[in-house]
Amino acid sequence: MTVRFVGAGPGDPELITVKGQRLLAAADTIIYAGSLVNPALLCLAKQDAVIMNSASMTLDEVIDAIVRATGEGREVVRLHTGDPSIYGAIKEQMDALDKRGIPYEVVPGVSSFLAAAAALRCEYTLPEVSQTVIVTRLEGRTPVPEREKLAALAAHRATMCIFLSVHMLDSVVDELTAGGYPADTPIAVVQKASWPDEKIYRGTLATIARTVEEAGVDRTAMIVVGRCLDGDYALSKLYSPDFGHMFREAK
Ligand code: SAH
Repeated sequence: MTVRFVGAGPGDPELITVKGQRLLAAADTIIYAGSLVNPALLCLAKQDAVIMNSASMTLDEVIDAIVRATGEGREVVRLHTGDPSIYGAIKEQMDALDKRGIPYEVVPGVSSFLAAAAALRCEYTLPEVSQTVIVTRLEGRTPVPEREKLAALAAHRATMCIFLSVHMLDSVVDELTAGGYPADTPIAVVQKASWPDEKIYRGTLATIARTVEEAGVDRTAMIVVGRCLDGDYALSKLYSPDFGHMFREAK
């Protein structure tokens, strides 16, 4: 029995992949990350499927549940929020299954940093603005390697998507400013991207902390920073008439 790790997407139940949806509908046991997976997705489950919320489980308990279910010949889906490769704690589960010789497959999902771009109607990689997206977080109880401190990454002034940090927005702003982003750099906070109660707060490094504090946002939010949120950019080469490529000759 192959265990399926499935990315549930950012919230909107229609943002799971077709493959993820099919596997979810066929699963005998579903173990979902209860803190962020939209429970609406569980409506896809078979009537007699066993559904477990991993929010209150330890790693060992999750692995035990998977091992027991596969041992009984059940199809198991482990449902992660967004894409499992981003802050998903999936590696330790895959390693535990490797140790036990249990095969698994990973089905990717739409990460919340991409749902945030859609909500903001922005392009992270604008020509002559930034061609780089940094996915990161502020240090919390999980340490961040010294060379990846926010201030160090800020030196690039690339587009940054900052997870798991909105409750420490003051420190985020301090580190970004110390690292080299000017105080008028645009920044947005997207709360619950793609959910019905999605909210967007926009400002600059100088103003955002106050706006977000007044709104009382303290969880499930993505911080997006960079000039890509401004209006200025160069037109792309890809669609420029004088730029030829494999599929189109220059005019
Ligand atoms: N694997 C997930 C991230 C899990 S870490 C993914 O790929 O999206 C949890 C963090 O993700 C939250 O603290 C928040 O920063 C972000 N997040 C998850 N869902 C979100 C959503 N719908 N809108 C905004 N941020 C979200």
